[in-house]
Amino acid sequence: MVLIDLHTHTSASDGVLTPYELIDRALEAGIDLLAITDHDCVGGYRTALEYYTTKPSAMKLVSGIEYSCRWSGTTIHILGLGMDCDHPAMLEGVKKLSAARLERAEKISQRLAKKGFHGALAGAVEVADGSQLGRPHFAAWMVDQGHVADFSEAFDRYLGQGKIGDVKAFWPDMSEVTGWIADAGGVAVIAHPIHYKFTRMKLRRLVVDFKAAGGGGIELISAQHHQDHQDQQAMIRGLAREFELEVSAGSDFHRDTTYGPRLGVKAPKLSDNKAIWDRWISPEADSASALVEGA
Ligand code: MN
Ligand code: MN
Ligand code: MN
Repeated sequence: MVLIDLHTHTSASDGVLTPYELIDRALEAGIDLLAITDHDCVGGYRTALEYYTTKPSAMKLVSGIEYSCRWSGTTIHILGLGMDCDHPAMLEGVKKLSAARLERAEKISQRLAKKGFHGALAGAVEVADGSQLGRPHFAAWMVDQGHVADFSEAFDRYLGQGKIGDVKAFWPDMSEVTGWIADAGGVAVIAHPIHYKFTRMKLRRLVVDFKAAGGGGIELISAQHHQDHQDQQAMIRGLAREFELEVSAGSDFHRDTTYGPRLGVKAPKLSDNKAIWDRWISPEADSASALVEGA
């Protein structure tokens, strides 16, 4: 069995484990191939890489990122895998996203102030403590201040989709982030395609645009997907075949929860799709792995 995880988060974005802890956890879990894909930054990966090189193991670590971007009026996520993080296109991209996040945070803060919640930006920055600033930090601040009872209430009432703190405007276009990844020698991957709840037609349109922008992969297995929905898996596999995209798999691990995803996904055996992980690990002739098995 080959254990892989090509979608994980550290405390450099909104994950709970530090890059060191994530590496240790992945080694404990016996993962063969790991990518750290923090939101809009590669600092967690860089720190993890330094630590990883001090811990000889068979595990492979590849660079990663999860870019926020816009496509057709919606915010979507594009993963970058295996790119050169020091390439000018990536340096520029990360810088742009960082500025976009700050602008967005200022806007969220202004909007919350209108609701009578003052000092949100300073509060969220303090919570973030150097991590890439995002809505979870605002939510944590709101809980701290007693404005809401918990995270869910913060998102349900103020920060979630369609609420006052849901500011989309500052993300770059999908084709732009896909181009940065490709230019830096990486492969761009559509993250959790089912999560967007697009119609089949709309998802197909996304794939067409993505492919034209230089995209190369699509997530087949994600904790954001219901693994028991075979029809959805079949649809993604069909799209991947039609547009010659490699399929990817990851847990989207953020933290330990009772029902949430754990680190590591069994690499499924693919008969008629190309596996993205074959770029970094040799396909194992292990007939015991079941077909498209989830985490
Ligand atoms: Mn996240
Ligand atoms: Mn995502
Ligand atoms: Mn993610």
